[in-house]
Amino acid sequence: MPKRVVVLAGDGIGPEVTGAAVQVLQEVAPDLQFDHQLIGGVAIEATGEPFPEATRQALQGADAVLLGTVGGPQNSPWNLLPRHLRPESGLLALRKALGVYANLRPVRVQPGLEHLSPLKPELARGVDILIVRELLGGIYFDQDRKIEGSVAYNTMRYTTLEVERIAKIAFWAADQRKGRVTSVDKANVLEVSELWRRDVTALQQRDYPGIHLNHEYVDSVAMLIVAEPGRYDVIVTENLFGDILSDLAAVIPGSLGLMPSASLGDGAGLYEPIHGSAPDIAGKGVANPAAAIMSAAMLLRHSLDMPHAAAKIDGAVSQALRTTPTRDLGGRASTTEFTEAVLHALGRTA
Ligand code: ATP
Ligand code: MG
Repeated sequence: MPKRVVVLAGDGIGPEVTGAAVQVLQEVAPDLQFDHQLIGGVAIEATGEPFPEATRQALQGADAVLLGTVGGPQNSPWNLLPRHLRPESGLLALRKALGVYANLRPVRVQPGLEHLSPLKPELARGVDILIVRELLGGIYFDQDRKIEGSVAYNTMRYTTLEVERIAKIAFWAADQRKGRVTSVDKANVLEVSELWRRDVTALQQRDYPGIHLNHEYVDSVAMLIVAEPGRYDVIVTENLFGDILSDLAAVIPGSLGLMPSASLGDGAGLYEPIHGSAPDIAGKGVANPAAAIMSAAMLLRHSLDMPHAAAKIDGAVSQALRTTPTRDLGGRASTTEFTEAVLHALGRTA
């Protein structure tokens, strides 16, 4: 059976960057089937809904989902719709339908692009971190919450099952990288972190004895991730801590156009660049497709078990970033020229 990838190009620069990613996938995996569906503003225009039934149906039995970007400009008429009918609610519905509980964000300073990083070049050089964030649990979702008069509370709750499933993904990813996992918590203050730390440790001892595991407090990681980023390989943490740390770390590579992501659950994985729809440059052919292309590489690695093809794409992107940088990187290349450079680099290593 050929593998099927649902492609949701979405709005703004989504179609441009996703188009580039699909071209690259076709080059390394010619047997892949692509199923193009609607989401976000373009779905609203066509069907009145940001996450139409046809899109939901297409997810059934799909192997992976490649997503572009969703949303319109500030003054978009979509923003006048009720919240549940706006483009962004399509994204939430999609994540919910896929049940993705792990968000993976690689933070990599590309060789030759150290000057883009806000860190000193000697610190930025070689940074290669994978942040694995729990996405469905913790304080954002727990129903034990209230605001009443002058008192309010939320609850950070995790179960062993939730901790183990996210930690497994971190250990598995570390096994393909440098073999080191840093689990981030606040175990000096929080019971929920005590359980987190206990369960991650037990899992490592039981099933991943070859992986090196250490534990650090989130406040300390917030300092060290910028002061000493080279110390990290894989970081695994709960939802709230991961939200903050992953945005902090996203600044390190120096451009939003360099940040891919994967969201994994028990079914099809979801792959998307972390940048938004960038309405200011949409349709102009100048968007940097690197993040979308690297997201496609993650798709091959995590959903299709093609790590070699994924590594080839990452290598070709690194090369194209050096030879053919786009405008956001201080270069002049168009989306098409950059994509051609990636395809060319792939051809040479075939
Ligand atoms: P949204 O509301 O969908 O997040 P946005 O306007 O906030 O849209 P972002 O994608 O967050 O857009 O981008 C912020 C800035 O970075 C924009 O000015 C945009 O042009 C630029 N940018 C983002 N992604 C890219 C990219 N892939 N290539 C080039 N420039 C980009
Ligand atoms: Mg934005």
